[in-house]
Amino acid sequence: MSDATAQFADRIIDGKAFAEGLSARIGTAVGGITEAHGLTPSLAVVLVGDDPASRVYVRNKGRAAAAAGIAAADHRLDVSTTQDELLALVATLNGDPAVHGILVQLPLPGQIDPAVVVDAIDPAKDVDGFHVVNTGRLATGRMSGPKAALVPCTPLGCRMLLEDRLGDLAGLEAVVLGRSNIVGKPMAALLTQASCTVTVAHSKTRDLPAVCRRADILIAAVGRPQMVQGDWIKPGAAVIDVGINRVPAQTGDEPDKIRLVGDVDFDAAIAVAGAITPVPGGVGPMTIACLLANTVTAACRQNGIDAPVF
Ligand code: NAP
Repeated sequence: MSDATAQFADRIIDGKAFAEGLSARIGTAVGGITEAHGLTPSLAVVLVGDDPASRVYVRNKGRAAAAAGIAAADHRLDVSTTQDELLALVATLNGDPAVHGILVQLPLPGQIDPAVVVDAIDPAKDVDGFHVVNTGRLATGRMSGPKAALVPCTPLGCRMLLEDRLGDLAGLEAVVLGRSNIVGKPMAALLTQASCTVTVAHSKTRDLPAVCRRADILIAAVGRPQMVQGDWIKPGAAVIDVGINRVPAQTGDEPDKIRLVGDVDFDAAIAVAGAITPVPGGVGPMTIACLLANTVTAACRQNGIDAPVF
């Protein structure tokens, strides 16, 4: 921890600790569901190829699921798998009543169109929340009932952290930096539902620092290491750093070593912000915990059981 970080330690939003608490609550809920209904929520994780980062994500997801009492099955396919072969596996998983959640790890090899694969997943089992049916339900505010949206895990986790720290978000100015389908757009939809006044900024936005300085809540999801500077932040703002960027560790003796940094210059930002997530240990652990929450929600809905609220 740098001196700046130590001085402002109470400003850190500890996503790792929150995710551990959430995972424990999910584990308790799973125990109750299994006991009362004889149902064990289950997640199928599909990995095509051997991308090292994807392998780590898939392994971590499997471990977290098992720790929460969720049955997790890995389906590892060769990098040369055709789109039709992958679609056949998705169809099998869609038709298997013992599988409640399906996650196809992205990115996929070049011969496979990810949109075609995501479109093929049963929306009721789409625990990533990427299917257009779930996107549409989120955009139109269908958040409860058997046909409610399954919400993308990363933005869902960000909203939980914000509500835990700030309480009611109504009326706050939120700026979402990034407009991807998996983070920026669903994040903006969730903050709109929470009655924030939302601005979505992107690579064509004029005077980005000035736009960011309006934010009571600043979400950075651009994939640019430490792009957001301290003077882009309104004093007291809550900053959620979604970015995961691998940069040289600059240790000198180990030139190949990398370290993870976010999209925000953390040391500069923490001196200005009211609250901020670190990288690592902020949003990342929440993404996995929310995947578990979505799997339990999906399992309950598919079996006519009231889904727990996490
Ligand atoms: P993405 O699909 O590449 O989207 C990046 C967005 O940032 C785009 O909307 C792009 O604008 C905008 N952008 C890029 N450069 C910019 C610049 N110089 N100024 C302003 N806007 C700029 O990325 P993503 O999938 O949303 O991911 C974003 C980051 O979050 C990445 O670091 C990723 O690794 C991380 N991530 C973390 C988690 C987690 O669990 N913590 C989960 C998902 C993603 P245009 O639309 O105009 O091109």
